[in-house]
Amino acid sequence: MSRRTLLAGGVTGLFTVGGMALGAGTARATAERPPFAGCAEWGARPPAAPPTVHRRRAVRILVHHTATPNTADHSPEAAAGLARSIQAFHMDRRGWTDTGQHFTISRGGWVMEGRHRSVELLDGGTSVVEGSHCTGQNVVAIGIENEGTYTDTDPPPLLWERLRQTCAYICARYRINPIEIVGHRDFKNTACPGDRLYGLLPILRDEVAGLLGRRVEGAHAARATWPLLRGGDTGPEVLAAQHLLRAAGIAEAAPTGVFDPATDRAVRAFQTGTGAEEVNGLLGGESWPVLATTATRRAGDPDVRAAVRVLVEARPGPVPAQPDLPTWQRLLGTGGAPMAPVADPPR
Ligand SMILES: [Zn+2]
Repeated sequence: MSRRTLLAGGVTGLFTVGGMALGAGTARATAERPPFAGCAEWGARPPAAPPTVHRRRAVRILVHHTATPNTADHSPEAAAGLARSIQAFHMDRRGWTDTGQHFTISRGGWVMEGRHRSVELLDGGTSVVEGSHCTGQNVVAIGIENEGTYTDTDPPPLLWERLRQTCAYICARYRINPIEIVGHRDFKNTACPGDRLYGLLPILRDEVAGLLGRRVEGAHAARATWPLLRGGDTGPEVLAAQHLLRAAGIAEAAPTGVFDPATDRAVRAFQTGTGAEEVNGLLGGESWPVLATTATRRAGDPDVRAAVRVLVEARPGPVPAQPDLPTWQRLLGTGGAPMAPVADPPR
């Protein structure tokens, strides 16, 4: 039985992860500090430039997966090797000054500092080091990379336990509401952190809140976000997206309800035309708000009206003449508690 099933069944107090029982964490009122391995401990190279420090607290946590193999080697040596290889990739291939994310958690549950000074500033709780893990969120969001690929498999218990402990400690130090634990795909057109790990985020929020001895307002509530649509997907959301792309001036997407090659080309054209960070044919958290904003401006367009009709049929409810972004999210089935409207300061 999955955690999701347990949750849906309303069982509280204990979730099972891969056969291991974990307390749901309603007892401890203070967040235990995870045993961080600092940069020196895993053998980091010195950064190419001093880290940029901002005198402010982070407001959210962004969950990533490394998209590396789901290794069975749970040793600290393997964890250190992962941290070194990520740092080398980010510095030598991406051209960044240091590891992009603030923290890395191995499948064995070893939690390692990413960018230099991340641990020290987290302990202080009043400043953050600027990362390179999600453009627009590198100052306001702490990035955690979880080792593995969680497209169709859950993270192992050791990783999950450490992830929730690390999130609880970060929330406590920076006074972050656990509802602000989100996924990379909430901001970018990416599958990261994988469908399975992303699907577990509501449970993570609940468990972190439990570790902090508090309740999330609207516990289990979905976080307002956007659907991630990609090649092969079908359904009313795809059909609506095709209409909205047409309303945005991209005629290539015939309204078929199937995310076919023409839709892929249309999404790429939209991404190119709107300056998306990556042109990859994934319609996700970066492009949806742009598409929906365009649709709101062109609310009288026959294709926008068709999109609304398709979505209302799937999820009946009142729709204003000019649907705002929360309305689009509700119509797309991804409405919920709104995210704090905070992004990095302009450079
Ligand atoms: Zn990511």
